[in-house]
Amino acid sequence: MLEILIADDDKDAQNLLGLYINKLGFKVHYASNGIDALNKINELNISIALLDWMMPGMSGIEITQKIRESKIDRYVYIIMVTGKSEKDDTIEALHNGVDDYIVKPFTFQELKVRIFAAERIIKLENKLKNAYNKLYNESIHDVLTGVLNRKALMEKIEDYNNKNKSLGIIMIDIDNFKVINDTYGHLVGDQILKEFSAIISNTIRKSDFVGRYGGEEFLAVIPDLDVIEVKTIAERIRKNIESETFHIGSLSLKITASLGVYVLTEKTKIEDAIKLADDALYEAKKSGKNKVIVY
Ligand SMILES: [Mg+2]
Repeated sequence: MLEILIADDDKDAQNLLGLYINKLGFKVHYASNGIDALNKINELNISIALLDWMMPGMSGIEITQKIRESKIDRYVYIIMVTGKSEKDDTIEALHNGVDDYIVKPFTFQELKVRIFAAERIIKLENKLKNAYNKLYNESIHDVLTGVLNRKALMEKIEDYNNKNKSLGIIMIDIDNFKVINDTYGHLVGDQILKEFSAIISNTIRKSDFVGRYGGEEFLAVIPDLDVIEVKTIAERIRKNIESETFHIGSLSLKITASLGVYVLTEKTKIEDAIKLADDALYEAKKSGKNKVIVY
């Protein structure tokens, strides 16, 4: 249910508006001065504000300016409620970010159509916001495994590299994945990838993150730990994979992974750091697989 704020220093006007808005079936909040109105808009989930023009503390126009300047992440549809004498100033009100205005005294019918217009805009805005969030989420995650995709992973590493003292890079690769695909087919391979990435996600800390770097290659990023501690996490990932039995349909499969670790400090470029973690991974593969090698 949309929430509406009625801000008016005149008790009778407040009551009348409240009566009308309640009839329309919205949740109503009240304010009797400008400061209180602004606080309520900021703190509550108000999407439509009916603001009296003249109020103690802050005028409806000043409130509107403050809201339009603020970083509040929802659109607040503002209807200015004006006295006859302020009617000529409505251009100024619209210029300052007010969406609509209504002149006192008004009828229930007049108010109703304006509130419905506001509701249309708010609903459209919510729909766009949801669509945007959905697309955004899809654009940063790997479709199959749900972990970050390569592009988002690289951007996040770049971002963390600027903010953190050190970044542990763990390159993780499933051993003999080609054999699994060739033997059981790609659908089984896909299922393995899903569960494999879930084990990594569940093993790392909340402050770490993981992405799919390539086919069966994942990259976990561990901020602000030294090389011994990063190696401990890598070892834990290796063990958790080794001890898991992957149940896919009637199959029960055991797999292992090889891991290469490099801890990135400010002096190393990210591409170089990933290359070094990859070199360590290559070393792990070459020297027998199912192991962690630190560069
Ligand atoms: Mg007033």
